[in-house]
Amino acid sequence: MNAMNPMNTMNTTTFDALIVGAGPAGSSAAVLLARAGWSVAIVEKQAFPRRKVCGECIAASNLPLLEALGVSPAAFDSLAAPRLQRVAFMRGSHNVSAPLPAATHPQHSWARALGRETLDTLLLNQARAAGARVLQPWSVLSVDGPHGQMRAMALDIGTGEKTELQSRVVILANGSWEPLQSVRRAEQRVRRGSDLFAFKANFDNANLAAGLLPVLAFEGGYGGMVMADRQTTTIACCIRADQISALRARLPGHSAGEVVEAMLRRECAGVNAALQTAQRLGPWLGSGPIDPGIRLRGDDRVFKIGNAAAEAHPIIGEGMSMAMQSAWLLCDRLLATSGEGGPQDAARWHADVARRYAADWRRHFSTRLRLAAMLAHAAMRPLPASILVSAVRHFPSAVTWSARWCAKVTCAIEPATIARLASAPAPRPPTARAPLAAQSTGPLTEAS
Ligand SMILES: Cc1cc2nc3c(=O)[nH]c(=O)nc-3n(C[C@H](O)[C@H](O)[C@H](O)COP(=O)(O)OP(=O)(O)OC[C@H]3O[C@@H](n4cnc5c(N)ncnc54)[C@H](O)[C@@H]3O)c2cc1C
Repeated sequence: MNAMNPMNTMNTTTFDALIVGAGPAGSSAAVLLARAGWSVAIVEKQAFPRRKVCGECIAASNLPLLEALGVSPAAFDSLAAPRLQRVAFMRGSHNVSAPLPAATHPQHSWARALGRETLDTLLLNQARAAGARVLQPWSVLSVDGPHGQMRAMALDIGTGEKTELQSRVVILANGSWEPLQSVRRAEQRVRRGSDLFAFKANFDNANLAAGLLPVLAFEGGYGGMVMADRQTTTIACCIRADQISALRARLPGHSAGEVVEAMLRRECAGVNAALQTAQRLGPWLGSGPIDPGIRLRGDDRVFKIGNAAAEAHPIIGEGMSMAMQSAWLLCDRLLATSGEGGPQDAARWHADVARRYAADWRRHFSTRLRLAAMLAHAAMRPLPASILVSAVRHFPSAVTWSARWCAKVTCAIEPATIARLASAPAPRPPTARAPLAAQSTGPLTEAS
């Protein structure tokens, strides 16, 4: 779908905005800023389409955003899996299901599942169509410099050449699992048995009802299962490192993904029933450890969106919502005010946007993060998990309400803001000195 065309050349290395990472957060921001008339570079280290560890459920609240970003509802409908209208809670032999709440939007009432190889490619194509420069597969190694005149060292993975990219604004949208090379050493921490590693696999011929979204709970982890696009079933889960070691000791010679699959079939009757006739499509993908918590600060020197800003335990499947919606919140603030000026103006403008964006972020997402952590820790431990099971058996509507509390049907972006940002040209960000766009240090190659 996204084969690289012959390389184009461009002769500027200077942009209004440099975005690191082309997941749902980075591509959303690239579309909005490029449409507003900013010069945008988006750097992605992997070639697309690529698989990614993710449960692949897109909450209904995001579908109007996808449409406003240029993903046509007809194209999306033809690619995505059927509407998700029921949620189940599965643990051991227990299996309780309840309706999912519907969003109030007239066209987009229900969550849908779509493989990340498809979704991320669709969104990046929209960024390209909006005029963003796509540098892929390129990797940003480091970012520094004063406000209004940031510099990033980027590596063209194809040629091994390094280029310095200059930008007035840098937006980190590089997820939470791969810090930039320059900060990796500083952030390295001791690995713990409680670290959660994430896995995903796709299956053909699984016996899972279309439109059902089971949440899985088991000792030391949690996960989800869904029929995604092309009639394939996706299973994604997180599991503690010490649990994986114990499982591998019991099944020597098998990969981590294989022992996780064996455990899921053994421990979770719902998974076992769904996979009776299924064939796995390719190997398990593994990532992590995941890093739940908030990294965003009101005084950040670079803006952060999506998982780079914060990661919620994926038991609530709200990561892509927070990724896309945080991009919209930030772009709304970036595009609201601007003006050319000196270094102090650039610093003041940056500090003001960062502070307002961080406040918006906390207002909309902090509760979701806390609820996700509570549910995740309850699901992973035997006693709280059995209390959860008994609660949902007696009150299945609690599952529906939990989905509502986790904001699965409420979008942080108002319809009027969606309409305004989807089209509006806007002022460019202030710079520290003469317009950087005038500077050029030679050609860059661009994936198109
Ligand atoms: C097991 C599991 C299940 C999940 N299920 C769901 C679900 O059902 N629904 C949901 O909404 N969310 C789910 N999530 C969460 C969701 O996957 C993430 O929250 C989401 O992908 C975050 O999007 P992002 O754009 O911030 O980052 P990412 O999607 O992680 O994208 C970051 C991109 O940056 C690139 N990158 C990284 N470093 C660099 C660099 N130095 N230079 C250039 N590029 C770089 C990466 O290659 C990547 O493409 C799940 C997560 C897990 C672990």
